[in-house]
Amino acid sequence: MTRKNTSSIVYPKCVVFDLDYTLWPLWIDTHVTPPFRADEKNSSIVWDRYGTAIQFYDDVVAILQDLRDHGVSLCLASRTCEPKYAFRVLDLMKVTIDGKKQPAKNFFAIAEIYPGSKITHMQNISKKLNIEYKDMLFFDDESRNREVERLGVTFQLLPDGLNKASSLEGYRAFAMRNGLSR
Ligand SMILES: [Mg+2]
Repeated sequence: MTRKNTSSIVYPKCVVFDLDYTLWPLWIDTHVTPPFRADEKNSSIVWDRYGTAIQFYDDVVAILQDLRDHGVSLCLASRTCEPKYAFRVLDLMKVTIDGKKQPAKNFFAIAEIYPGSKITHMQNISKKLNIEYKDMLFFDDESRNREVERLGVTFQLLPDGLNKASSLEGYRAFAMRNGLSR
């Protein structure tokens, strides 16, 4: 079930991330315009038509890699109105995964990207991974999406996007909710 490591972090089986203002500081359907292209020198940056850079927040790759190293399934749940922009950028953006530059999308087992209540996104992830809601932790910057807690998912609000401190807060909230904290 849920595992603990030596530093006493309780890792959920599955961690789900919103995209906009959770993994990157913009709305992909509002603030940028296709076509998108990868930066020639720094492959973790993608540029839009008008020279706006799209890049993850600083701590994101390290957090995702740490979860991956602990066998956690990583998923995306975004309600953007432009899913194809999101998929395109996650394909163009290359980050280091397991020591190798790869499309950022490779971090994620499942990407549920479409408008509407995130209850649906969580239901689809639970079904596809055959995982219980109580084993899922969801990071998101919008409090309206807290409604997923009705299912039993742990919700962690991120006022300033995903970073080391907010990720640890999420793991603690997950442990508390599931009665696993020390
Ligand atoms: Mg968001």
